[in-house]
Amino acid sequence: MRLTVLGSCGAYPEPGRACSGFAVEESGFRVVLDLGYGTLPRLLELWPSGPDAVVITHEHPDHCADLHGLFRMQYYGRRGRLPLYCPPGVLDRLQGLEPDVSLREVFDVFALPGTWDVGPFELTGVDLPHFVENAGVRLESSRVLAYTGDTGPSPALAELGRNADLFIVEATDRPGDTSGLLMTAAAAGSWARQAGARRLMLTHFWPGNDRFAALAAARAAFSGEVFAASEDDVHALG
Ligand SMILES: [Zn+2]
Repeated sequence: MRLTVLGSCGAYPEPGRACSGFAVEESGFRVVLDLGYGTLPRLLELWPSGPDAVVITHEHPDHCADLHGLFRMQYYGRRGRLPLYCPPGVLDRLQGLEPDVSLREVFDVFALPGTWDVGPFELTGVDLPHFVENAGVRLESSRVLAYTGDTGPSPALAELGRNADLFIVEATDRPGDTSGLLMTAAAAGSWARQAGARRLMLTHFWPGNDRFAALAAARAAFSGEVFAASEDDVHALG
């Protein structure tokens, strides 16, 4: 399993970066996890013909804005259909941008949370607490990759990331946030430890945050390898 970071920012992209997105490849099958602002051009540089499947964790635009670009590429470029795994709110957002076209002309939709076979992967979506319905996702094949999307602290995180080879956890560290619906880097480290994950990748950094400080906070709580998501970085799992 091979993972390429498309974007690492929460809320809105920093210069030269993009919002949430991860390209995952196994045995030639290509699945993208989230398509936030600025991720689609990066994805197409990596995979000019696009993905084989799309997974979107939730309807906030820093996770799905570029799904609209992908829809148009498939629709106007006559590139065929794609399976789309997401909570229903994602479709509502997308339909708002394309009120005159049925999204089903492009997407075969499968609801998250839920469990689906996706190419060589078993995909499991787990409900996690956020401002809107958010599905943390777990991709299992010969290796295990888990990704929170956006979430507050929840016991479900320990199950989502259970023994994962790589646990991608949001570490928004939004200044002044008291919602309980976002994560800090320190909490990300704590949940990676409780999950028994092998490695932790922090992502979804609030623009302007000090990523080195985030790494230090997570490392204080988790003794495994910790690194920060960064655009175009490639990680081999196993
Ligand atoms: Zn977000």
